[in-house]
Parts: sequence; C-alpha cells; structure tokens
Amino acid sequence: MDFVEAVKAAGVVGAGGAGFPTHVKLSAKAEWFLVNAAECEPLIETDKYLCRTYPERIVETVAKIAGHLEASHAVIVLKAKYHREMEALQEAIDKVKAPVELFGMRTFYPAGDEQTLVQQVTGRVVPERGLPLDVGCVVDNVGTVLAIADALEGRPVSEKFLSVTGAVAHTQMFHVPLGTPVTEILKKAKITVGDYAVIVGGPMMGRMLKDKEAIAQAVVTKTTGNLLVLPADHYLVKRSELTEQQMIHRAATACIQCRMCTDMCPRYMIGHEVRPNMVMRNLWREKTITSNEEFEKAFGSAANCCSCGVCEMFACPMGLSPRKMNDYAKRLLRERGINPERNMHPTAREAVDYRKIPTERLIARLDLTRYVTHDLPEFTQMQVKECVIPLSQHIGKPAVPVVKQGDHVEQGALVAAAAEGLSVNIHTGMGGTVTEVTNQGIRICGEEE
Ligand code: SF4
Ligand code: SF4
Repeated sequence: MDFVEAVKAAGVVGAGGAGFPTHVKLSAKAEWFLVNAAECEPLIETDKYLCRTYPERIVETVAKIAGHLEASHAVIVLKAKYHREMEALQEAIDKVKAPVELFGMRTFYPAGDEQTLVQQVTGRVVPERGLPLDVGCVVDNVGTVLAIADALEGRPVSEKFLSVTGAVAHTQMFHVPLGTPVTEILKKAKITVGDYAVIVGGPMMGRMLKDKEAIAQAVVTKTTGNLLVLPADHYLVKRSELTEQQMIHRAATACIQCRMCTDMCPRYMIGHEVRPNMVMRNLWREKTITSNEEFEKAFGSAANCCSCGVCEMFACPMGLSPRKMNDYAKRLLRERGINPERNMHPTAREAVDYRKIPTERLIARLDLTRYVTHDLPEFTQMQVKECVIPLSQHIGKPAVPVVKQGDHVEQGALVAAAAEGLSVNIHTGMGGTVTEVTNQGIRICGEEE
C-alpha cells in the first residue's frame, strides 16, 4: 500500500484542530513540512507529553513524511521553553541522523495557530482564508505524526492521548479508546469541586459543556486533546452564558472604539484584513443597511477571523465580545451571499514580532493561574466497558457504518467506512459487541477493565 493509501486506510485526521483528513494534505508536494508541537492553548499538556515520550518515533516519521512530500525543510516547532522536549527531540535527531530541525517559538498565544506558525518559521504569509499549502507548506500536529507512524505500520487511529487539567486532583495524561465517555475519564481524574463545567480543548477555543446532560453525552473523538475542568461559577463559565443579543447590545452601548481588538488580532498582525472594531462600530445599524456593498464595507473583514479569541479574552478593555460578533457577522455575510475578496499576497505588519500576547499574562487574565503545574502529569491507560464512536469526527461527510447490532468486533476493526468525497474511515479502540448503530454513532460494549 502506498504512503497516502496507508494514511487514508487508517483514518488519520488532524489531531490538533478541526480534524481535516490527513491523506488529502499528504497528496500534495511541499517545500516545507512543519510539525506543530507548540501547544497553542494554555494548560494543555498533550504535545509535550508526546515529544518527551516518543521522540525517536516522531523524528523518524517526520523524516519519512518530509521525504514523501519532497520537502527541503522538515521542522518540528515547539515553544523554546520546553527544554526537556527540545533535548529529547535533539537527541533523537542526532541518534537517527535525520534531516530534521527544531524551531523554538516564543511563549505567546496563539503560537500554535497554523498561519502564525507558518509566518514565524518561514516568514511567508498564508493568503486570507487560504491554506499553508498556498505558500508551499504542509503543517501537521505532532499527534498526527504519531498517527501516521502507526498507519505506516498498518495500525489505524482507534485510541487517543489527552490531558485533563484544571480542578482535578493532578494534571493527568490519559490514553483511551475513541468513543470513551468523558464522564469515565473525569471519574478517574478526581474532580476537586462540587458543581463544575468542562471545556473540551483549551480555554480560548474549546467547547464549553455546562449542563450535566451535555457532559454525560460527550465522548472522546480523534480531535480531543484536552479536558479542562472548571468550577461552575468560574469567570469563563459565567462569561459563556451571555446570549448573542446581550453581546450585540453591549457592543452598541459600551464599545469605546479603542481599536485594541484589531491592533492585537494575530491575523491582522500577519497582514490579513480583520477589523473587529469596525464590526463592533457598525452593529447598531446592521438592520438598516440595505446595500450589500455597504454591508461588506462594515462587516466583510469578519470573514477572515479565525476565532482565536484574543480580541475578547485579552484585548478588549470593556469586556466585550468582538469574536462572537465576528461569528454573528460571518453568518449575516453568508445569508446575504457576500464573499469578500481575498488578499492572496498579504504582508505581515511591522510590529508582528513585538505585539504578542504572553501566555502567562493570558492565563492570569483568564483566572487560570491556580491550575498551572510544573510537575509532569500522571499517566493512565484506560479501558472502558462501553464506548460510543461518533460517525463524524472530522471535516467532511460522516463515515458510513459497516457493522450492525449484534456484530462482534475486535480492537482496531473498521466500524464505519469513509463516505464518497471528503471523509475518513473510523475504527474501534475496544473489542466487544455492537449494541446500537444510529446516524450519530456506534455503541460497543466490551469487557470490564
Ligand atoms: S477572534 Fe478576534 S483576535 Fe482572533 S482572529 Fe478573530 S478578530 Fe482577530
Ligand atoms: S477593544 Fe473593545 S472597546 Fe475597544 S474597539 Fe474593540 S470591542 Fe470596542
């Protein structure tokens, strides 16, 4: 089986983002292959753990992928302050004599944003709403690299590493089958507060789960890299309860047009046309604008927002929500059929290297300092009695079940095949009996731990 076919068969998707099918990315040729191990969001431990634990496997696979892409540069990108991980990877590079380099990023948010990372390492700027490939780069997360290593040995993606942080006994790493209920992991992690909420992912861009029902239904997917447990009355939980209408009213009444949201926007800094202050300024008259041309002038820049959250979680001195208002504006642009022209050759602004958000300050602003730990996380390999494997864990069409109720499946078996077009195969991380197949997922009961 050739390289791309092996990755496709194993159902590999981007482990650190929205779950873009990796075989599609690897079907191209590129000058740069960049491995994202910069752990974009505060408090997440997964990339660091993988770099410390599997340095040789990572380095060897990076060299193979770079060879496949015919890339002349293969670079693993971490934060420079990850000394242990840097050393482990450098030793591996020296040992296997691989043509792989390390790049140490400064500690800022969003260091791991794909487009920021491309700009910092190569000096190139990805076009607005473009892909790293548009400037000769392929970027994969370090977890994806390890999934590719498995795929090349014939092992599919069926389990996941993730960290659990926040209001738990210790920051911990878990290795679990896909479809593992989040509640099972939380039981092992030992929550230290009464009422709690869970953010799946990081505090800036993760998915907030507040009510018990939502937490009970959440399961680990191919893209789950972290669970952050917070007390139910934490600032971030309370903030997430604001309705869209409340945010619109606040924008119209309290925005002082200081422009901090725009001036600190990481996409604006790499030269993209993103102007959240313009969106905020025009919200009050949104319903009165009849001409599409005028509407695009007021709200068009929202189309280039990547929802990193810097504007609303750090920059805005009034505690407003420009990110959410950009989301709102994007929806209105779609409804009006407006697709603003893209700048295909942006140039980073002069201050790009100076105007960065220090991660430590961001953590303090988010009221998360108490959860920062300098100890290495504990590790738990988990088995579960039951899992529910979603059919859609990736960008593209949901996979199509190939098993039915009553079937017995072995660990690693294909349970849903990629649909026509953009889609991926899905495998089970536990053996057992299929007890339910729905449009959402496949329930499998196995043996107790
Ligand atoms: S969320 Fe805010 S800071 Fe981030 S890209 Fe969008 S406008 Fe810029
Ligand atoms: S930072 Fe806040 S107050 Fe300043 S322009 Fe942006 S939304 Fe308005």
